Amino acid sequence: MNEQARLASLHSYDVLDTPPEAEFDDFTRLASQICGTPIALISLVDAGRQWFKSRVGLDIGETPRELAFCAYTVLGDNIFEVPDTLKDERFADHPLVTGAPDIRFYAGAPLHASDGSNIGSVCVIDHVPHHLTDGQRDALTTLGRQIMRQLELRKSAAHSARDAAFSHAILDSAAASIISTTPEGTITTFSHGSEQLLGYAADEVVGKMTPAILHDPAEVAARARELTAELGRPVSAGFEVFVCKSCCGSSETREWTYIRKDGTRVPVLLSVSAIVDADHTLTGFLGVARDITELKRAQADLQHLAAELSRSNSDLEKFACIASHDLQEPLRMITSYLQLLQRRYKGRLDEQADEFIGFAVDGAARLQSLVSGLLTFARIGTGRTAAVPVDMNVPLDTALENLKLTIAEKEAMIIREAMPTVCGDAAMLAQLLQNLVGNSLKFCREPTPRIHISAKASGEEWIISIEDNGIGIEPQFLDRIFTIFERLHSYADFPGTGIGLALCKKIVERHGGRIWVTSEAGKGSAFSFSLPAVGG
Ligand code: ADP
Repeated sequence: MNEQARLASLHSYDVLDTPPEAEFDDFTRLASQICGTPIALISLVDAGRQWFKSRVGLDIGETPRELAFCAYTVLGDNIFEVPDTLKDERFADHPLVTGAPDIRFYAGAPLHASDGSNIGSVCVIDHVPHHLTDGQRDALTTLGRQIMRQLELRKSAAHSARDAAFSHAILDSAAASIISTTPEGTITTFSHGSEQLLGYAADEVVGKMTPAILHDPAEVAARARELTAELGRPVSAGFEVFVCKSCCGSSETREWTYIRKDGTRVPVLLSVSAIVDADHTLTGFLGVARDITELKRAQADLQHLAAELSRSNSDLEKFACIASHDLQEPLRMITSYLQLLQRRYKGRLDEQADEFIGFAVDGAARLQSLVSGLLTFARIGTGRTAAVPVDMNVPLDTALENLKLTIAEKEAMIIREAMPTVCGDAAMLAQLLQNLVGNSLKFCREPTPRIHISAKASGEEWIISIEDNGIGIEPQFLDRIFTIFERLHSYADFPGTGIGLALCKKIVERHGGRIWVTSEAGKGSAFSFSLPAVGG
């Protein structure tokens, strides 16, 4: 073992420079008596010195390491003995031999630590030459072992004391309530957090109560019935309810209601685990509980908010449905009379009047498409979605038929592949395709708009894509465009309402599918959506 590890081992015993202790002095007295020498020492060999934990017949407390006979002892595993120092050339000129304390005889047994290193020695010294008998050598070796045992004991006692102090510090500082019990359920620890949460002092409950007393009896009885049914054996409505699950090794965490000393109630999240010793024998239970009043309040607020939100959502949709219905009729009248006015009196009114009528026609048309978009959006939000086999060629025909004027106007090239039969609502699917193909036409590039409509199977669904060579979409906007009223361009450049894609998303989701877009600005976009296949 290297010197650094040996020193680390020595320091781990925390014994250097400690006051004399009777247990160790007994050993040195014994060593000197058994070996018949005036001096006996327990020497610990530190980096630059040897320090004596116990000494008989010597006044100095330590010597430099280079003068230490014991520095030789720690190098070997057996007794190091110098019967006559003057006859040994290593020591004949040694200052402790030629001067005080006039060492003529030395014998030391190494102190062999549990990690294999020799941290010092127990040694005997005389002023005259000497020889140890076999019995004395044996006794010295045994004393070395006993001294080490004593040092190990001190070390583990110090660890235990540190651990206990640490556990107490944790117990007292934790905001949670920590309660431990015997296997039978008597409280053995009641932390500071428990006192604060429950209003009892530790003295009132430790050794006197079971934690079952702290619970709502109705809750405990209900849980006992549940466990009896679940485990197929009677579970009594007491302490057993909390521990019968953790008995088997796993811990159990569930919500409970604690009743404080003053009778008030507090919801807690309680984790109960079994405490077992090294032999797997059950020594008790540990319950850690956290006050969840705030959490419960936040949960209730959230539920309330969600209910409000869903009510206001459907109220909003109902309102949009009714309002847009009532708006459509007069709007249609305004638009058609304005258009009539424009056609019939074109060229007969002054230029400004013509222009004003033009603005009114545009405004009315814009309002009409907004109202009709909202109406469809609300209808799809509240109405029922059919789920019947739909040959997608049919809604696609409908969509293209509705768009045929724009297709012709733009001289667009439509490439359509065969469409599958899916499960859904034909009218909604026609609307979906019309919106997507309509957008491709609107955002297509002159002079040769090209729109490719394709379908491919993917597991139990179909993926239908509408790909165009239009202006494309910048990557940072891709996530936003399915949100209602989200538009990327000015109305003047590309008239629209910002409802179309939100509507598409709603239709696809009502069919249990997804919609997404891939696009490269300036090159084109591909809108794809998935729909369940028939029987899928
Ligand atoms: P709008 O009525 O404005 O077309 P949509 O919800 O249909 O509303 O579309 C939202 C926005 O997404 C559009 O304003 C446009 O900026 C962008 N967009 C939709 N389809 C395409 C497409 N095929 N090519 C480029 N941009 C598109």
